[in-house]
Amino acid sequence: MEQIKYSSREIKDSRTRHGRQGEEKVKAVLNSLLKEGDALINDLILKKDDGYYHQIDHVLLRSNGLFCIETKNYAGNIYGKYDDSRWVIHNPYTRNVSNILNPLRQNYCHLMAIKELINNSSYYFEGLIVFTRGELNVLAESVIKIKDLFDYISNKKIYPLYTPNDIKLIYDILKKNDLSKTISPEELAKKAKERIKDIKSSMICPRCKAPLVIKAGRRGPFYSCSRYPKCNFSMDLDEDNMHKKR
Ligand SMILES: [Zn+2]
Repeated sequence: MEQIKYSSREIKDSRTRHGRQGEEKVKAVLNSLLKEGDALINDLILKKDDGYYHQIDHVLLRSNGLFCIETKNYAGNIYGKYDDSRWVIHNPYTRNVSNILNPLRQNYCHLMAIKELINNSSYYFEGLIVFTRGELNVLAESVIKIKDLFDYISNKKIYPLYTPNDIKLIYDILKKNDLSKTISPEELAKKAKERIKDIKSSMICPRCKAPLVIKAGRRGPFYSCSRYPKCNFSMDLDEDNMHKKR
């Protein structure tokens, strides 16, 4: 059964001290990659047509590539594959094992949000996940450590190169749609929480046949009828342990 714990962890990560430090380190490397005509946008917030918000750590626009970059700051040993839904983090000191949503999936959603805005197939955005700490045991080309970031981007070869006009066009569209100045981190976290509250499920309410949604309760996630409060059917996520009210 899918658990939804990662959501709050994902939000927390970028707001912790380590999270911020990691983003600053990546920002410094990206800044050193900027040549005339290139552009960098940090902490971009876009809203998709479906109403979902996307907080994108870095967008780097260079003549040799357009990059959507997600910074991760987890310590420990990180294990995962390209198409695993979750990656595992093992802390060798505390022996604690936790898991996160596959960041490639998260970044894919960011890429879709950008694509929706740019709406031009000749502009190809590449997703990149950069880990600033930890030991990477991940088999995916676009997942790298910060020490490899500079070379990865400067060695990228594409044809034809993007012109300064291409870059300015993309920059202007992204900047025009950037909500980071109008939405506070607190509001964004609240909106993300609202999203966690109601996750669609394939289950059907046995009482009224409406779809069940997964909600975040005080005691963990549970199924609830999407017609609540009209129908108050609810059910534990783990067991088929039905009960009227929690
Ligand atoms: Zn119902």
